[in-house]
Amino acid sequence: MRIEEPKILAALPELGVELQREVSLAELTYLGIGGTTDLLRIQKHEAIPDLLKLLDEQGVAHKFLGGGSNLLVVDGELPFVVLQLVKGEPEITLDGNIATVDAAADLGRTVTFCAKNNLGGMEGLIGVPGTVGGALRMNAGAYGTQIGSYVREVKVYRAAQRKIEFLHGEQISFEYRHTSFAPDDMMLAVKLELPSKPYPEILQGIRICNEKRRSSQPLGQKSAGCIFKNPPGGSAGRMIDELGLKGFSHGDARVSERHANFFVNAGQASAADMLALIADVRERVQQAYGVTLENEVVVWNA
Ligand SMILES: Cc1cc2nc3c(=O)[nH]c(=O)nc-3n(C[C@H](O)[C@H](O)[C@H](O)COP(=O)(O)OP(=O)(O)OC[C@H]3O[C@@H](n4cnc5c(N)ncnc54)[C@H](O)[C@@H]3O)c2cc1C
Repeated sequence: MRIEEPKILAALPELGVELQREVSLAELTYLGIGGTTDLLRIQKHEAIPDLLKLLDEQGVAHKFLGGGSNLLVVDGELPFVVLQLVKGEPEITLDGNIATVDAAADLGRTVTFCAKNNLGGMEGLIGVPGTVGGALRMNAGAYGTQIGSYVREVKVYRAAQRKIEFLHGEQISFEYRHTSFAPDDMMLAVKLELPSKPYPEILQGIRICNEKRRSSQPLGQKSAGCIFKNPPGGSAGRMIDELGLKGFSHGDARVSERHANFFVNAGQASAADMLALIADVRERVQQAYGVTLENEVVVWNA
């Protein structure tokens, strides 16, 4: 979608919002798939209520991009524009055991920065790519850790109220890859309360998690991490593997040989290839186990 509305174009400089024309989402997502649209880069949180009011008034559909590590975007000219936060300065500040982190900050760098300051707990999240905002939205987790466990407060733009609010951790429910935020709420910053731990001990935990990831995931290939959520008490990867589907493909979209719940773009996969593979594998699992797998990957198709 190309922003043509003069009212929006005139307001962007004043709001401190940078407009990038016709960006390719294939270049902004880890799967390397997706069409083109205009990108609005937001420098100041305070500009968001006015910006979104303007977009809504002018009928410009929009979606919110973090680091692009959990997204499958359709091809062609996209029927929405994309909003992205520019990192604040500083990205992280510490006050005792509380880390205040900008939503645009890189999650891995946040984990290591806190570790170097003897704040642990998030070792399991070390290899999860993307931003802190994306991790909050998805309640990212790995190896027994989930980000929601450490959330003390979230600064969030609440679309329904059209204003920025601060929510206490207890006001938000964090479940397995799901949170109680409304779909159009936008995470802006978070206060994490982290346990004190000596750096060498945290580093040891980080190394163990890195090693587990390296030995089980196709890290050099384009993917969005796990495609499906694990069903209650089960493992999507194990079911797909048991059906002999490692290496199964539609075009260049392929079930990883390394981890059956990672689907990779092995070349020039289109969104249609990846969606067909997802639908096919879901159907086979449904037939064999009577379980309907739910997407963990977020699909942007309209
Ligand atoms: C190799 C690999 C390994 C992975 N391993 C794991 C893992 O172990 N555990 C795990 O949980 N995930 C894993 N993932 C998936 C992914 O990294 C996480 O879901 C991550 O938290 C997504 O963050 P992001 O910033 O990239 O979000 P994006 O992919 O950009 O967006 C994902 C969703 O969050 C929304 N969003 C992003 N930022 C914000 C914001 N500030 N406010 C509101 N909504 C927002 C988007 O609109 C979208 O709906 C993996 C991915 C890859 C590629």
